Amino acid sequence: MTTRRIQDLLKNGQPEEAVTLQGWVRTKREQKGFSFIEVNDGSSLAGLQVVMHQDLPDYADIIRKLNTGASVEVTGTLVASQGKGQRIELKAESAIVYGEADPETYPLQKKRHSFEFLRTIGHLRSRTNTLGAVFRVRNACATAIHNFFQERGFLWIHTPIITASDAEGAGELFTVTTLDLKKVPQTPAGIDFSQDFFGKPAYLTVSGQLEAEITALTFTNVYTFGPTFRAENSNTSRHLAEFWMIEPEMAFCALDGNMELAETFLKYVFKHVLETCPDDMAFFNQWVDQSVIQTAENIINSEFGRITYTEAIDLLEKSDRTFEYPVAWGLDLQSEHERYLSEDLFKKPVIVTDYPAEFKAFYMRLNDDGKTVRAMDILAPKIGEIVGGSQREERLDVLERRIQERNMPAEELWWYLDLRRYGTVPHSGFGLGFERLVQFMTGMQNIRDVIPFPRFPQSADF
Ligand code: ATP
Ligand code: MN
Repeated sequence: MTTRRIQDLLKNGQPEEAVTLQGWVRTKREQKGFSFIEVNDGSSLAGLQVVMHQDLPDYADIIRKLNTGASVEVTGTLVASQGKGQRIELKAESAIVYGEADPETYPLQKKRHSFEFLRTIGHLRSRTNTLGAVFRVRNACATAIHNFFQERGFLWIHTPIITASDAEGAGELFTVTTLDLKKVPQTPAGIDFSQDFFGKPAYLTVSGQLEAEITALTFTNVYTFGPTFRAENSNTSRHLAEFWMIEPEMAFCALDGNMELAETFLKYVFKHVLETCPDDMAFFNQWVDQSVIQTAENIINSEFGRITYTEAIDLLEKSDRTFEYPVAWGLDLQSEHERYLSEDLFKKPVIVTDYPAEFKAFYMRLNDDGKTVRAMDILAPKIGEIVGGSQREERLDVLERRIQERNMPAEELWWYLDLRRYGTVPHSGFGLGFERLVQFMTGMQNIRDVIPFPRFPQSADF
């Protein structure tokens, strides 16, 4: 007999079917002469109720062993459930206990645990309802993302994790080295990286964008979806040291097309998750944030707001809210400003465009005013910035001038400039933090709880 997944049984199982299931015990209720065991195999939020009667071979021994967390295989017959809350249940005819879980020491007992505590047991926390639901939704988001781009003919490009370019000048880099830290070779000018593995300093990537640009100028439309690293020592609920980023890049595409794609994309992903994970989403809506389903429907059905940075500053200056950080034209928007705009003012995602050139990356296309660039950030309620993107500077002379103005090493960017020398085209793209998306989708407060194994300052276990 083939083993069936519980999600399949809950949906398709019929009374009198003979089935085998495998999973882990969530709860045990002993009655006189029989017991109810709820078994979960991770395929869905709900488990299947197994009924074991005392005439089951080795009944007493099996029931003694089947505590919360124990692993079990049960063979039996599906029957229509008498109880409320489930359509069918499994009447056990035989059971194998694979592994026990001592109730004296197993940390996941019935009570609700804090997410902080669960982070200290990262090897077990996905067995809880909430984290289980998060990781299923995370999987659905990833599937939707690939489907969206593949349906539109975008090529998935695997960009490198190790890179020698710090072109974005973001700081926040992790160095990758094989030098012996106890005796680092020195030259009069500093560390002698010529003796290092790559013959020069190397880092973990902070973005796949530059490589995405290279490949967009061959394949027209590409996207990256991979791990990204930032050594930011900011202990926030929105920053991880290791996160996943999605970066589409489109040739022959200006900022309008970029915004259009980003909005269509977000709607697509939300729709897919609502359709494929209704139980998990209902769970978040009940237990985590009572607005997640409404928010998702709002994303799917509303048109995103669109304002320029200059208009955003105007709105912020006019507001009666007092902000911690100053608001003035020329200063970057802080998270509190971003949230005010999307959460309080627009009550939906809002796309802010045309930021001052000074605090945006060198590669963003300069507007005719000479002051602002064709940048776009999508700000989401509760999250702040979820997407950052731009039309890229495709004019060689303008790009060279901007690199010079910033005292950036033009010689290291020779290949990036080459792309403007040979077959340059208007092109655009954006970066979406995958975990911010999952946070937004699920209503989870802390970004550390939407990635199975979070990396943040002082924490890289499991
Ligand atoms: P923030 O101002 O929130 O730090 P950023 O300006 O550094 O964001 P970008 O460099 O534009 O972000 O990166 C693109 C996207 O990656 C962001 O819109 C965000 O969704 C996500 N992101 C950036 N840093 C992190 C991080 N440390 N952890 C998780 N996601 C991140
Ligand atoms: Mn940042």
